[in-house]
Amino acid sequence: MDNPLSKTFLFSDFDGTLVSIRKDPAKVALTSQAHKTLALLARKIPIGIISGRSLVFLQKTIAIPEMILAGNHGLEIDMGRQRFRHPQAVSCQKEIQQLARGLKKKFPGIDGVFIEEKGLTLTFHYRLVPPGKREAICKAFHDYLKTVLKEDILKVRGGKMALEVLPNIDWGKEDAIRWILERYKNRFPDRKVVPIYIGDDETDRAALALIQKIGISIFIGDAATTTIKATFFLPYQTQVIALLRQFQLEIDYIQEA
Ligand SMILES: [Mg+2]
Repeated sequence: MDNPLSKTFLFSDFDGTLVSIRKDPAKVALTSQAHKTLALLARKIPIGIISGRSLVFLQKTIAIPEMILAGNHGLEIDMGRQRFRHPQAVSCQKEIQQLARGLKKKFPGIDGVFIEEKGLTLTFHYRLVPPGKREAICKAFHDYLKTVLKEDILKVRGGKMALEVLPNIDWGKEDAIRWILERYKNRFPDRKVVPIYIGDDETDRAALALIQKIGISIFIGDAATTTIKATFFLPYQTQVIALLRQFQLEIDYIQEA
């Protein structure tokens, strides 16, 4: 176990990184190759999936017992016996639920709008809205929020064809990574780890920046057209699984040698 590869602590985003982005976000699933590769890797090295999806969604969709999962951009974490839910986010949960109900009433049956309720956050998807109508739909969303949100306890963030409403607190994927690494180091004080983070969009920026300082960061996208900094760039999502597969074979090889 003294090969540097064996010291890897792999962190990864989910949508757009381990799975390609689908038109219908509810239909996203790991391919069998991706699931197999991750399951084999998770027996050899610690892996944490840090996603904007809810923790429940990740538990159901990934279903690999060894995996550490962080949902809602790190606001909730399942690390086996150690669990975390950000207390301030929990206290905003009622507002999120109310808002989800309100949005469903405000945008009933509008083709292409999908409101994903994620417990501590919600996502307003408009990928399936015809391109000519997207701007108006987003404006209607922002206008509606202005009328119903009286205080600054929630914030809105743009994603890939989606708008997300989150508790207005300073806690992101990078904080979840710190939380996980701290607990891992407490449990295994003698183990050295080299963290890797793979992500594909703006919501991964801070996590990639953190990992670049202490390990290896990999961004899925074109280095020439993004301001996001990373150690390595992979142009296509499909290359991630190929990379992890290669990685898994190397680790098997090292451990058998
Ligand atoms: Mg992503």
